[in-house]
Amino acid sequence: MKYIFVTGGVVSSLGKGLAAAALGTLLEQRGLKVLMQKFDPYLNVDPGTMSPFQHGEVYVLDDGAETDLDLGHYERFTSGRLSQLNNLTSGQVYENVIKKERRGDYLGATVQVIPHVTDEIKQRIYDVVDSTDADIIITEIGGTTGDIEGLPFLEALRQFKDEVGHENVAFMHATLVPFIKAAEELKTKPTQQSVAKLREIGIAPDVIICRSEFPIDNEIKRKISMFCNIKPEAVVPFVDIQGSIYEAPLKLYDQNLDSIICARLGLETAEPDLIEWRNMVDRIVNPTHTVKIGVVGKYIELQDAYKSIYESLTHAGAANDTKVEIVRIDSGDIEEHGPKKYLKDVAAVLIPGGFGDRGIEGKIMATQYARENDIPFFGICLGMQIATIEFARNACGLIGAHSTEFEPQTPHPVICLLEEQKEVENMGATMRLGTWEAKLASGSRSADLYGSNTVNERHRHRYEFNQNYKTQLEEKGFRLVGTSPDGLLGEIIEIPDHPFFIAVQFHPEFQSKPTKPHPLFKGFVAAALENRK
Ligand code: GLN
Repeated sequence: MKYIFVTGGVVSSLGKGLAAAALGTLLEQRGLKVLMQKFDPYLNVDPGTMSPFQHGEVYVLDDGAETDLDLGHYERFTSGRLSQLNNLTSGQVYENVIKKERRGDYLGATVQVIPHVTDEIKQRIYDVVDSTDADIIITEIGGTTGDIEGLPFLEALRQFKDEVGHENVAFMHATLVPFIKAAEELKTKPTQQSVAKLREIGIAPDVIICRSEFPIDNEIKRKISMFCNIKPEAVVPFVDIQGSIYEAPLKLYDQNLDSIICARLGLETAEPDLIEWRNMVDRIVNPTHTVKIGVVGKYIELQDAYKSIYESLTHAGAANDTKVEIVRIDSGDIEEHGPKKYLKDVAAVLIPGGFGDRGIEGKIMATQYARENDIPFFGICLGMQIATIEFARNACGLIGAHSTEFEPQTPHPVICLLEEQKEVENMGATMRLGTWEAKLASGSRSADLYGSNTVNERHRHRYEFNQNYKTQLEEKGFRLVGTSPDGLLGEIIEIPDHPFFIAVQFHPEFQSKPTKPHPLFKGFVAAALENRK
């Protein structure tokens, strides 16, 4: 087994996760079996309880693990399907250490960061090794080198490389090379200092990824090489990408990142086969058509809150030879000024998932506008619940219809708490999570798009469609076309008498890949394109 550990220095948001994922693409296209994972030094057990303002989107895996959004990059850039084991946080590490201490496993020892916490971290890597048939594991360490929380992880990795042999471990460090306007110069000092911090801990990087706004010349490379004690060719520029993040593997390939890593780890493989990837990038960067799609949410100002949805729209756009221009609309603004002002110029409307009652009425207004004006509509999770509430109120005259999440005393609880949720007290990892099967009605638009009557999709919700209202809603043209195999849980609704109106209780965005767009997103973008014409 070979290991690559990816650390970051200077600042966060460097694109370290993207660089790690892009390396994963390159190694996979060389024919290696790659497993990617993330270690997050924060104390939450998982990001499931964090607000999108803190952390961006929560990415859900097949097994229901609620993880960091970088795992979304990993699954989109490589073919691996990840599990709970692949996102370790300090919260999990300490939880285990404390459990062991209470059980008496430490036999009277004083429990300390070194060796007990570091052992726990290393043990996780060994557990992952046992669980996989991969040739190579790429592990990204969250946070910035020098953070107090991150130290135990780095110390664990230092020990780990001695245990498994230096020849099997490569360290890739991502830093920022800022451009100082007044001096008209790119500066290497932050990189030098962050590498010095790493070396203090006993880790010497094998490759330095230099994120920069401008091209990095040989002089800068030579300087970083000298001060950081690595070969000039192992200083890899990672200049801001204008077109698409999916260009990252190609850019890093041009800088020989994969061959440097393979040489360092003694891996002999053919050159990567990037033909399919290049074609996909070309479709994203040079499309024939453009279409505007409105995403109506409440975390709209955050780049990362609906990350997988935005990526899925891009994938679906590429499949339709179309650039999807995402118009981010704050549902609060719709509440204030009405939907027309914001939706009159978009070709389709998407309502993403969400929690809490802020902005709900704005989403309902947007849905009504899309339904009544024949604008293609796609609702995801909360988006399906909103579509149900809207239809109940405005098409069936059920005054005050609502979800009990937002209005516990509603006269018409068309969305209500899942039976299994009624006893739940803790908030962490207690939703209906992960991949569940759904059965689709033959002849429904969804079944046609999937080309199948059985689908497996990832979930993350506490509330469900209340089937006591099914007949009443269906009388007015609403259809429950997808359910759990036992028929009890609503999974997909449609309005057949509408150009495109689909809403799903699950999160299709977690399974879309750039080279394999999700069928519902693909159909939605096609409908948007049709509407624009
Ligand atoms: N808040 C809703 C629920 O818990 C929707 C969740 C979501 O959109 N992920 O069911």
